[in-house]
Amino acid sequence: MDSPYACPVSRLSDSSCACSQRTSASSRAEKFASYVDMAKWLTSWRNAPETAWLSEGPVHPQQQVLRRLEEAYKRFFAKTGGFPKFKPYGLDPGIRFPDPKQFSIDAANGRIKLPKLGWIRMRQSKEVTGALRNLTLTREGDKWFVSIQTRGAEVAPALDLQPTLGIDLGVAAFAATSGGTLIEPLGALKAQQVRLRRYQRAVSRKVKGSCNRKKATKRLANLHRRIARQRNGWLHKLSTNLVAQHPVIAIEALQVRNMSTSARGDAAAPGRNVKAKAGLNRSILDQGWSEFRRQLEYKAAAVGGSVVAVPPAFTSQRCSACSHTDAGNRKSQSLFSCLACGHAENADVNAAKNILALGCAQFKAEHRAAGHAATAHGGAVSPAQRASAAQAAPAKWEPAEATMGELAHA
Ligand SMILES: [Zn+2]
Repeated sequence: MDSPYACPVSRLSDSSCACSQRTSASSRAEKFASYVDMAKWLTSWRNAPETAWLSEGPVHPQQQVLRRLEEAYKRFFAKTGGFPKFKPYGLDPGIRFPDPKQFSIDAANGRIKLPKLGWIRMRQSKEVTGALRNLTLTREGDKWFVSIQTRGAEVAPALDLQPTLGIDLGVAAFAATSGGTLIEPLGALKAQQVRLRRYQRAVSRKVKGSCNRKKATKRLANLHRRIARQRNGWLHKLSTNLVAQHPVIAIEALQVRNMSTSARGDAAAPGRNVKAKAGLNRSILDQGWSEFRRQLEYKAAAVGGSVVAVPPAFTSQRCSACSHTDAGNRKSQSLFSCLACGHAENADVNAAKNILALGCAQFKAEHRAAGHAATAHGGAVSPAQRASAAQAAPAKWEPAEATMGELAHA
């Protein structure tokens, strides 16, 4: 379906566009136009005959666009953002209905009612719980998505929970847990690789600018979106399951961005193994680690838990049984065999156990610091205090410090 709620800013002529009005007002050194002023302009445009089409759409999402414009100007004046740009038609970031009175959900019949559109069929992927706050419509290709923000009961972070699970993110397997489980990657991209290549070839064979090329491009884009949805769905199930069993999870503080920088180098120092590195980059990005971590963090917070990030140094070289640390312990990509005690297991599981031990050590240091802060202030510790206490005393962990006792949680 075509958007009945086109962006009011981009479709307006020059004289009646909030963005250009603001720009010309500031060039005439007039007073800064606030959201309230712009909302008044909007009302006059909705009533003016030449821009009457604006009144075909509901007013609230249009006002939300002006709110975003005001935020953009505020960021510009605070020097935290660039000057607001004109947005081309069709590049809308979504249509937001800010008031729950503007929509109603009929879950039993799978439909939703929106202003000026009436009842629309929808496929509900998740039950809506809590008090409704707002609703946003977004478009991805041919599909429209509804996101509903709700407010649930606030969960205070439980400060006395220590990590019960360590996760090591790998390349061969998606991740390994300290419980000994290897989580295989979904490999959505890998499975769809053949089809992807076929669609890409189809695009490149078509004449540029032709209708057939447009069709092929659209088909390719839809496949990319499908893969992304498959990966996200898989990640959501995985993170939900893990958090349900372990509210506090230790994970390595891995810089995905650093790992995925191109190996190409420059003319003076050309990179080596460019092709191999590109393959590795693709598998890292395909597996969506940062998204996985983001999901773990907010899902843990929702149940009062947290994600503890630990420095990953030596986790792959240290023996989780006797803490002997040696580069020679790692026999191969997948096998860990301790030179001191002979302990042997999957290298990633061993690393996950180390991460859990690190997380427990970090938790204790943090807990102690937070405890001191609480007695000094004579009250309860807020999450902010806890965070600052953790920053003030970063857990400088050396491989040998974690003890056997801490590993008993594995
Ligand atoms: Zn050992």
